[in-house]
Amino acid sequence: MFRVSQFMREIVAPTPGAPDRGAEAPLAGMRPGRRASDAEAGALPAASGSHLPPAAAGAAPPSAAGPRRDPPGPVVIWNLIRRCNLACRHCYSVSADRDFPGELSTAEVFGVIDDLRAFRVPVLILSGGEPLLRPDLYDIAARAKSLGFYVGLSTNGTLIDAAHVGRIAALGFDYVGISLDGKRATHDAFRRKQGAFDQSLGAARACRDAGIKVGFRFTLTEGNAADLPWLLEMAQAEGIDKFYLSHLNYAGRGNVNRKHDAFHLTTRRAMDLVFDAAWAAVRDGREREFVTGNNDADGPYFLMWAAERFPDRTEHLRAKLAQWGGNASGENVANIDNLGNVHPDTYWWDYTLGNVRDRPFSAIWSDLSDPILAGLRARPRAIKGRCAACRHFALCGGNTRTRARSLTGDPWQEDPGCYLDDDEIGVTGAGERLEVTPYSRWRKDGVPV
Ligand code: SF4
Repeated sequence: MFRVSQFMREIVAPTPGAPDRGAEAPLAGMRPGRRASDAEAGALPAASGSHLPPAAAGAAPPSAAGPRRDPPGPVVIWNLIRRCNLACRHCYSVSADRDFPGELSTAEVFGVIDDLRAFRVPVLILSGGEPLLRPDLYDIAARAKSLGFYVGLSTNGTLIDAAHVGRIAALGFDYVGISLDGKRATHDAFRRKQGAFDQSLGAARACRDAGIKVGFRFTLTEGNAADLPWLLEMAQAEGIDKFYLSHLNYAGRGNVNRKHDAFHLTTRRAMDLVFDAAWAAVRDGREREFVTGNNDADGPYFLMWAAERFPDRTEHLRAKLAQWGGNASGENVANIDNLGNVHPDTYWWDYTLGNVRDRPFSAIWSDLSDPILAGLRARPRAIKGRCAACRHFALCGGNTRTRARSLTGDPWQEDPGCYLDDDEIGVTGAGERLEVTPYSRWRKDGVPV
């Protein structure tokens, strides 16, 4: 996860400490990405220029950043239930409106929570499927809150009515993230449900009005990129606290539909828009948060964005980005699925490190005899291809392993989702890049794909 707003604030008020983790040579100029021409890349407008606000122009010189710091335990994203009332086109968990036998009981969940607390896990994100379909969701959340976790709820929002809003507020959920993938027609098509947009937006408004911190979660593809400017403006007009742009990761239906992933130039334009919106909020002193996920090249791309506008901040930001370190799968982010299987993150459901019914999470997460976990913890990670030679490797960490693995079968290959060109990463003569080929197999386990 790349906390855009946090790094934007480093432009205005540089700090010596390390930013939260979730995520050389002189910088080359920006050039179009390789997968699409301007005309092919859709309707995203170019970014605007930026200037330091008067107060920041006289700010103290950037401070030296220290070594990379890690939180005490990983953020745990917990898919408590796989059932969902929707069947979205890019759902990594391939959820559907049916029961999935063998899910953890309330008592089992409570036991895992106790272990997570002892293991110093700071954050639980309760997800699904649709977590509101789990009858004991509020009991689980209450238990987690009583033990001091930061508790987030990740929901499609369509089931949130006044009663749910009241319970969410009363329990003190720290954050509610609601998926919204574009304008009404776009969102309803992505979510495969007429009326989903109105229900989800209504839920966000109701949470906002109840004083609950709420955000939109937007997954970027070539099919909804044109809606992003509208969605950013709408989020601001509606007073939504947070905007999270997720790049498409190639897992579950996101892998089956990977041919619809955004072209590299589309991604760059989307990031320019997010950066501009985040900068405007910081510049104007508005309490709005912008975050991106699933493409750690966002860090180096942000550095290029900042270097063009605030060259005197470049070295400070580079040091801060190195502290962040890029991809955190298997390190600072963990996943537990509905059956109790532990994965390096939410996009590794086809790779299991262990099951909490057999061993505590703390034991599974500490067991580096697993080759994937050991590889993810290696510093630096042994990533191949253009990532190995990239001047930004320390900032990005080689990006998302799932895309490389889904495309090639090799989890340590270069990430095909990197939208920086060879000049920008300081590589010459690297040859052809990995092409994103369409998924060719059809799952036949009875779950709609
Ligand atoms: S080439 Fe690899 S390491 Fe470099 S920015 Fe791209 S994904 Fe990150």
